[in-house]
Amino acid sequence: MNPETDQLCVMKKNTESKLPLIESSASRRDFLRRASLVFGASAVGLPAMARSFASFSETQPFGAASLEALQSGRKLGVALVGLGKYSEGQLGPALEKTQLCRLAGIVTGTPEKAEKWKKKYNIPDKNVYDYTTFDRIADNPDIDIVYIVLPNTMHAEYSIRAAKAGKHVICEKPMAMTSPECQQMIDASKKANKKLSIGYRLHFEPHHHEMMRLGQREVYGKVNRITAENAQKQENDTPWRLGHGIGGGGPLRDVGIYCLQGAIYTKGKIPVSVTANFHKVTDPEKFKRVEEGMDFQLQFDDGTVADCRTSYNDKYNKLRAEAAKGWFGLEPAYEYSGLKGETSQGKMDIENVPQQTRQMDAFADCILNNKETTVPGEMGMRDVQLIEAIFRAAKTGNKVSTKDVEQVLDLVGRR
Ligand code: NAD
Repeated sequence: MNPETDQLCVMKKNTESKLPLIESSASRRDFLRRASLVFGASAVGLPAMARSFASFSETQPFGAASLEALQSGRKLGVALVGLGKYSEGQLGPALEKTQLCRLAGIVTGTPEKAEKWKKKYNIPDKNVYDYTTFDRIADNPDIDIVYIVLPNTMHAEYSIRAAKAGKHVICEKPMAMTSPECQQMIDASKKANKKLSIGYRLHFEPHHHEMMRLGQREVYGKVNRITAENAQKQENDTPWRLGHGIGGGGPLRDVGIYCLQGAIYTKGKIPVSVTANFHKVTDPEKFKRVEEGMDFQLQFDDGTVADCRTSYNDKYNKLRAEAAKGWFGLEPAYEYSGLKGETSQGKMDIENVPQQTRQMDAFADCILNNKETTVPGEMGMRDVQLIEAIFRAAKTGNKVSTKDVEQVLDLVGRR
């Protein structure tokens, strides 16, 4: 790890990437200047703790090819597949603010939605598909990236079809229902020589960057305990989330996955085992097909434990780390905006940013500059493998080893 940089990176299976650090000394100076403005201290003499309060997400500048694209005004075309709540409420609006990509196409089975989106986002007829015509997207040069925003059980099929159509893919979380499906998705993208990333928006969010930095750098000493909790009251407005129709829902896959993610990138390690138990079912009619909630624990090789909790019948939203010399955390932690952070030394002074805009521009930057994404398919597969282990632990009551899961981490300081 290079202590002089605040760059995020992906490390895979004991192989260190040879890619150069992309943070420029100018952006480092800019970061220090902003940090010193926040605290009124000189940048050079800024104490480590004070620096920890400043956002460093802006220290990831676009690559040279992106700067050229910005100048020429050419944006990569994104097609959203599935125009449900997330596309409508978040991704469509985010794509109006992206700098390197734009909403160019849609895939929907509902003609009324197609009409509405065409008008709202000025999408030409030739870039509108339904699920039967989807594969023809292969012949459409306007579409560079296909973003899968379908119910979880459909992620694998449509990601694979998009890769076969020769497109880069962003697939929403959870990547798929099973780890073999994840492997097929990774293989399909590799075969097509296209990139695959998962919609892990919080990897592009400065409060979460700060959690990564404080935890991984051990700014407050070794992290010994992590608490990660995410729950929502799930109504039957998206029936598949409660296991109806196409199924594939449940709180662990849907919102508990953020606890897994948060614990792992705060610690900067992958757990070696997991234990878990299902919550008592208080509404048997509603929770006939999916779990009502779960407690699960992640054990790390250095003795650190992450206590995680998720539910479809409660409300909590937090990520917190207890370290040898203090604590730090976020609450709310996983929302689209309004995140708040605090440490044992005081409140974090960090701006909320448009998460999905940053996420999609970061992926476009990877495509334009042929860089690896910090949230690749392998990370999605790691989490699906961990989810499988958590379900096994809850069903058997045993501790389940996770030593063989994909070893992919988003680490601060190395790329
Ligand atoms: P949703 O149910 O509102 O949308 C799903 C879309 O898929 C709908 O437009 C629906 O018409 C379409 N669809 C096509 N075939 C279908 C079928 N056979 N059955 C049901 N729907 C079908 O769901 P959503 O909340 O938009 O979630 C979609 C995906 O996005 C999920 O994988 C979810 O985990 C993910 N998501 C991610 C975030 C995030 O913060 N990253 C937030 C919300 C949702």
